[in-house]
Amino acid sequence: MNKPTPLIDSHGRIHTSLRISITDRCNIRCFYCMPAENVKFRPRDEILTYEEIARFASVAARLGINRLRITGGEPLIRNDLAGLIKRLSAIPGIDDIALTTNGVLLTEQAAALKNAGLQRLNVSLDTLDDDVFFRLSRRRGIDQIIAGIQQANKLGFDKIRLNAIAIKSITEQEIVPLATFARQHDLELRFIEFMPLDADDQWQRQQVLTGDEIKNILETAFCELLPVTRDDASQPAVDFQFSDNQGRIGFINPLSQPFCHHCNRIRITAEGQLRNCLFSTTEWDVRQLLRNKGSDDELETLIRSCVSGKNAAHGIDSDSFIKPQRAMYQIGG
Ligand code: SAM
Ligand code: SF4
Repeated sequence: MNKPTPLIDSHGRIHTSLRISITDRCNIRCFYCMPAENVKFRPRDEILTYEEIARFASVAARLGINRLRITGGEPLIRNDLAGLIKRLSAIPGIDDIALTTNGVLLTEQAAALKNAGLQRLNVSLDTLDDDVFFRLSRRRGIDQIIAGIQQANKLGFDKIRLNAIAIKSITEQEIVPLATFARQHDLELRFIEFMPLDADDQWQRQQVLTGDEIKNILETAFCELLPVTRDDASQPAVDFQFSDNQGRIGFINPLSQPFCHHCNRIRITAEGQLRNCLFSTTEWDVRQLLRNKGSDDELETLIRSCVSGKNAAHGIDSDSFIKPQRAMYQIGG
C-alpha cells in the first residue's frame, strides 16, 4: 500500500501530533481555565467512548500522526485511563504517548499508567503553597499533587515535566520555590504564559508574565540560564540549562514569542470536535461521522480538511482576533 501524503497545511506545516481531550470535567477549578461554579459539562453520552477515540487515532496515525497527548479537563478522573493508553499504544505508527494532568490523582494511578505504556507525563504545578493553590484552583490538595509527582518520579517515566502558569501580580512569588523544587528533584520545569482561554473572560494582555521576565527572576536567584539547542523544531518551549548544571527550565511563550510557524498539532475535544488550533473558531465534527457509520476514508477527508483550513498564526495581538467560544477545559490544553 502506498504511504498516504502527510497532513500538510496551506502554510507548509506537517502535522504529526494529536492532543486528545477525554473529558471536560475536572476535580479542581483553576480560575484561569474554568468558572468557579455552575460549570456546564457535556452530557456523558456526548463524550467519545474509548473505542471511538482509538478508531479516530488509528485513522490519524495512518496519515502520519505519531505522537499523542491525553488531556482534558482532568484526564485522571475518567475511568480506566490505563485501558485507553494500552489501546492507543497498540496502534501502528504511534511512537509516543504523553499525558497532561493536575496530579491530584497521580499517586494511585501512576504505576498503572506506566505499565499501560505511558512514557511522558506533564504535571501542572503552579505553586507549592496550599493557600496559593487554593486561590488559584479554588480547592485544597497541594500535598496530594506533590506526593503524586514524587511517586511518578520513583517509577522512572521517560520524562516528567512540571508546568506552571505565569500570571502577572499573581504567580511571581512561586517562580523561585518551584525552580528550587524542580532542581532538587531533577525535574524539568516549564512556565506557560497566560492565554485568553479563561472561562470567565477576564484575561487582559497586561496580565501576561512573559518568559523573559521569569528568566530574569531566575537568573537573579540562581545563576545564568544558557540556551539549549532544540531537538524538535515543533516543540512549543524555549529551553535553558542552569549554568551550574542543576536542571533545565523551559518557557512556553505563546504571547511574547509565538511559535505558530512550527506548529504540528491538531486537537480533538472530549465530545469529538476536531480543531486545528487552541484558538480555532471552526471545528470539524468527528463524533457525527463516527456515530453515523462514517468510513475511514471519510474520517481521513475530514482530518485533511481541518488541517488545510489552519490559519498561519493565532493572531491574539491583532485587531481581528476572536476569542474562541470554548475555554481551556472545554478544548484540552
Ligand atoms: N487538567 C490537566 C492539567 O491541569 O494539567 C490537563 C488540562 S489543563 C487545561 C492543561 C494545561 O493548560 C495546564 O497546564 C494549565 O495550566 C494550562 N492552562 C489552562 N488555562 C490556561 C490559560 N488560560 N492560559 C495558559 N495555560 C492554561
Ligand atoms: Fe482543571 Fe487543568 Fe483546567 Fe485546572 S487547568 S481547572 S486542573 S482542566
